[in-house]
Amino acid sequence: MPETRDCVIAGGGPAGVVLGYLLAREGLRVTVLEKHADFLRDFRGDTIHPSTLTILGELGLRERFLELPVDRVDTFDAVIDGERLTLVDFGTLPPPDDFLVFAPQWDFLNFMVREGAKLPGFEVLMSTEATDLILDGTGEDARVVGLRAGDRQLRATLTVAADGRDSRIRDAAGLVPDEFGVAIDVLWFDLPKPPNPPPVTLAYLGESALVLTLDRGERYQAGAVIRKGGFEALRARGLEEFRSTLTGVAPVLAPVVGSIAEWSQVKLLSVQLNRLRRWHREGFIAIGDAAHAMSPVGGVGINYAIQDAVALAARVVPELRAGSVSERTLAAVQRRRLPPVRSMQRIQKFVHERIAGRAVQGRTVQGSAARDEGRGIVPAPVHAILRHAQPILQRIAARFIGLGIRPEHVARR
Ligand SMILES: Cc1cc2nc3c(=O)[nH]c(=O)nc-3n(C[C@H](O)[C@H](O)[C@H](O)COP(=O)(O)OP(=O)(O)OC[C@H]3O[C@@H](n4cnc5c(N)ncnc54)[C@H](O)[C@@H]3O)c2cc1C
Repeated sequence: MPETRDCVIAGGGPAGVVLGYLLAREGLRVTVLEKHADFLRDFRGDTIHPSTLTILGELGLRERFLELPVDRVDTFDAVIDGERLTLVDFGTLPPPDDFLVFAPQWDFLNFMVREGAKLPGFEVLMSTEATDLILDGTGEDARVVGLRAGDRQLRATLTVAADGRDSRIRDAAGLVPDEFGVAIDVLWFDLPKPPNPPPVTLAYLGESALVLTLDRGERYQAGAVIRKGGFEALRARGLEEFRSTLTGVAPVLAPVVGSIAEWSQVKLLSVQLNRLRRWHREGFIAIGDAAHAMSPVGGVGINYAIQDAVALAARVVPELRAGSVSERTLAAVQRRRLPPVRSMQRIQKFVHERIAGRAVQGRTVQGSAARDEGRGIVPAPVHAILRHAQPILQRIAARFIGLGIRPEHVARR
């Protein structure tokens, strides 16, 4: 790879790796820097949405991807105050991408890197942390002309921050996100499936807890929503109380919660929701969580990161070929992606405050006396609407979660 590339990307997550692939597919020279030695990090979100399957299809990668050991999901059920409701039916989407896939994120990223390695201009540098920007000029008008990784300099026509929600490179660009206060965190842990498991269930919601059970074949990737900052207090009250919280809202888990034998099995993942006002400057743009950290609500963050990559690639390829990308083009990418991101973040905030937030007020998880005796987690009129409007809601939710607002496409060859 020559010292000056068309594009250099900080971060080998879904946004960075997919962008690298898309640009290399156009014959451009691109380097992705990933600070870790591998992609093996658990609980990073493992959902591949129908819209991502469509993009993989447009790239001619769909069938090969689906040969990996993935779990296919057709519907999402939730058990709300003891009543099972099917809230999302992906089968109502146009075929063939009428289902969602759970695939470990490292499998997806390794797959994309393997496919990218077949393209001459694609390079991924593992164990390489982007540490700073290279600037041409001084002050706010200085043009970004590449990345530093320690002593090493990687110059490029376009520099992209795709280094996630704690983005160091976004900070180096002087861009600061607006934080939208979040009231919740999520605990993740593995559970074996109980004997005679129930139908695939995304979540159990009750007045004392919100428990997630993502179906991963032989096991559940399980989650519990807690009040932000409440993990230490929860630990202090002991595992027995935590286990009984889980079974209180999801009695079906009673035979298996004993497998949580120590707190080290329970991982705290801090939830953030934020967004940059301006995603770009001369020669530079932030995408994915670096531009807008998504919460786990709806499991859409990976999808949104990939959609950013597709939207960016579609607009910058001609200018990259010509050797210069104007900031106007980068602003157009932000304008294109902002409405879907903003709408989804509003919904995520609403769910944090109105549903998840209510669950974590419960006596058992947080030890407060705020339990609302006799009242459900979802207000009765809303519950009635959910029950009676299921068929229509299933369709709307499938489109909204599965395809998103304004889905992006890749030109087929
Ligand atoms: C608890 C929780 C659960 C979630 N569950 C889901 C889910 O089920 N489905 C879903 O779609 N989304 C989920 N999300 C959101 C999702 O994880 C993110 O929105 C998505 O991963 C963003 O992708 P990204 O490529 O922008 O960033 P990331 O996935 O964060 O990738 C950034 C990459 O950059 C690397 N990196 C960081 N700094 C540097 C540096 N300086 N130099 C080089 N490399 C660097 C990191 O190691 C990482 O590999 C969840 C989020 C949380 C908090």
